[in-house]
Amino acid sequence: MNYNKKTVKDVEVAGKKVLLRCDFNVPQDKETGAITSDKRIVAALPTIQYLLDQGAAVIACSHLGKPKNGPDPKLSLAPVAKRLGELLGKEVIMAADVVGEDAKAKAAALKPGEILLLENTRFEKGETKNDPELAKAMAAMAEVYVSDAFGAVHRAHASTAGVADYLPAVSGFLIQKELDFLGGAIANPKRPLVAILGGAKVSSKIGVINNLLEIADTIIIGGGMSYTFSAAQGGKVGGSLLEADWMDYSKEMIAKAAEKGVKFLLPVDTVCGDSFSPDAKSQLVKAGQIPDGWEGLDIGPETVKLYCDAVADAGTVIWNGPMGVFEFPAFAKGTEAMAEALSKTSAITVIGGGDSAAAVEQLGYADKMSHISTGGGASLEFLEGKELPGVACLLDA
Ligand code: ADP
Ligand code: MG
Repeated sequence: MNYNKKTVKDVEVAGKKVLLRCDFNVPQDKETGAITSDKRIVAALPTIQYLLDQGAAVIACSHLGKPKNGPDPKLSLAPVAKRLGELLGKEVIMAADVVGEDAKAKAAALKPGEILLLENTRFEKGETKNDPELAKAMAAMAEVYVSDAFGAVHRAHASTAGVADYLPAVSGFLIQKELDFLGGAIANPKRPLVAILGGAKVSSKIGVINNLLEIADTIIIGGGMSYTFSAAQGGKVGGSLLEADWMDYSKEMIAKAAEKGVKFLLPVDTVCGDSFSPDAKSQLVKAGQIPDGWEGLDIGPETVKLYCDAVADAGTVIWNGPMGVFEFPAFAKGTEAMAEALSKTSAITVIGGGDSAAAVEQLGYADKMSHISTGGGASLEFLEGKELPGVACLLDA
């Protein structure tokens, strides 16, 4: 896949109507509908402000939640329009529909430097089906398409990919940064490339492990998935997370790494708890020697040292998946130590995955990383080496 795409700076937008796909899928309070985090709206500001400053008329759109049967007032983007207006310090005109009479009339009347927000794209049934009629109707309102919704690029929907069939399509600054860092780490990494893989399950990371085995110089395994590797090598894992169906696969991966000359590091010690709870009793054991009635919840100090040494002189580090149950402070030490080690390397450090991003933020290392991906699912598909429809549809640079 080509990660080198034209950006908003490569096209003339002055005086033009620009359809801008944002990721305004914000979390909301179930009772009141109030936006509980405006992070995604804030993240969209640089591209919006640039377009407005250039004299474009911006027609923004996004999905919000998962409306199943057409318009649902609870999932209206109106609260987003309000918050966006506050952040921009200017009126955000709200359309009552996506491609209906109101949207069309407001888009037609929109002047340079003004911004209109269309209603939730998923109010249209054709959105998730990538219906060409819907894509055509959205495209008809504008002259240029800018995509800045990295969190949605792994989906081939009308507003994330379909519209690019009818308009010149380029990336906004958010997607550009994702492509620079994630794309750079995968396509042209500064070596050695070290991939740290953890999280809950092997089965959810098959594609990532497989793809990174082709690219990385070193692979580090931690988190819940490490016990399947341990069990596959005859270790005792007690009550730890185990996916017996994936033991053979784990062995294959270890063999494949050896064949390719990729260093493959597994935990050498484990902090286990007597239950899956924040105040579980804990003890430190050697890897593969977890007693019955105990479960592995974090990597131990010797593993931390081994892993920190492995990233110390890396050129690039890709990290997906926490090293332990970081949500419980008593079992967050391994994840925190890795975050600290990454903050101290001169390597390019790229964090992908929703929980990994949350962990790094929660532990206070967010501003020490080169890049934290904003797209959970999208970043995983990126690391799997899959073609992302919302990126593939953009013009090559
Ligand atoms: P990401 O969202 O970054 O891709 P995952 O969703 O794969 O990451 O995994 C994150 C989850 O893995 C966290 O909620 C964490 O508590 C859990 N996890 C990590 N280590 C363990 C473990 N030893 N046992 C159970 N769960 C674990
Ligand atoms: Mg997750």
